[in-house]
Amino acid sequence: MPDMASPLIDQHGRHISYLRLSVTDRCNFRCVYCMAEDMQFMPRAELLSTDEMFAVAASFVQLGVRKIRLTGGEPLVHPDIVSLVGRLAALPGLNELAMTTNGARLAALAQPLKGAGLSRINISLDSLQADRFKTLTRTGELHPVLAGIQAAKDAGFQRIKLNSVILRGRNDDEVVDLVRFARQHALDISFIEEMPLGAIDEHDRAATFMPSAEILARVTESYPLTASIESSGGPARYHRMADSSTRVGVISPHSANFCGHCNRVRVTASGQLMLCLGHENAIDLRSIVRTHPGEPERLTQAIRQAMQHKPERHHFKLDAPPQVIRFMNATGG
Ligand code: SAM
Ligand code: SF4
Repeated sequence: MPDMASPLIDQHGRHISYLRLSVTDRCNFRCVYCMAEDMQFMPRAELLSTDEMFAVAASFVQLGVRKIRLTGGEPLVHPDIVSLVGRLAALPGLNELAMTTNGARLAALAQPLKGAGLSRINISLDSLQADRFKTLTRTGELHPVLAGIQAAKDAGFQRIKLNSVILRGRNDDEVVDLVRFARQHALDISFIEEMPLGAIDEHDRAATFMPSAEILARVTESYPLTASIESSGGPARYHRMADSSTRVGVISPHSANFCGHCNRVRVTASGQLMLCLGHENAIDLRSIVRTHPGEPERLTQAIRQAMQHKPERHHFKLDAPPQVIRFMNATGG
């Protein structure tokens, strides 16, 4: 049973209750803000097996983690994703098992995932225009994603949330259209400020940066918003509309630092425990799980010790070369 007598507390007194687990670095898209066009993926032998992922996740739950989000890369390109969801969902003590996906394979997988015990789903959608969607994702098609959103609704997922990264001059003219779409389909939506993770050459991040305040101002011109104190346990700050159940969130890693309330850590697809998205320091859980299989106390001890190294906050700079050289797909967004 979970060891709630001594929960995971970091050196700054924050209670760590949320794990974001990247199940693969691979993806069927190449979004311009996330990946280089000719991405080099890690050799398969370096990625955690599903048994190793399960062992790591179980150790976190043992230490009092209550929420796990599966991410990537694209979690739905992992061949064993449904069975992994089933095993994780059955962990005693885990309250919420969520996933962030690009939605392209959801039409086929929404129902099996729901049946396996996935509780929440976030779907990334940056454009409702097919040609622009293709440009932003480089390899993606809009139609299967729209079908995936419908399939997730049909499968009975509640409070599905869209995630949209808004880039000035590329899709900022769609902010209101995306909110309208969310309202029509009774979805929540969060707008994310782009983070400087990995060097990209496709656009100048300082030039395309759109602060959350500007996005909210655009929405307000069509749909008046009221700030809400609701939280889904992540960094989004929510706003409500009087005439709709849709919540409009903003995730503002630049313009409104949320590190003081950080309750989460990440494990990469290769088993590196990342204590902060904006720092490179990591603890190698893969070597522990491979050297000492079947000895969960080795993992729990390493995780507990790692909390003493969680940085106080991130410092992203848009006008300098990225301080964090890994891409978002390596860490899991
Ligand atoms: N492939 C899945 C997806 O796209 O939803 C899950 C992984 S993706 C890395 C998770 C989230 O991170 C997505 O919503 C994506 O838009 C966001 N993301 C990727 N790169 C980003 C960046 N440089 N800045 C901000 N958000 C980013
Ligand atoms: Fe793939 Fe998600 Fe990154 Fe897009 S944001 S390239 S869908 S991992």
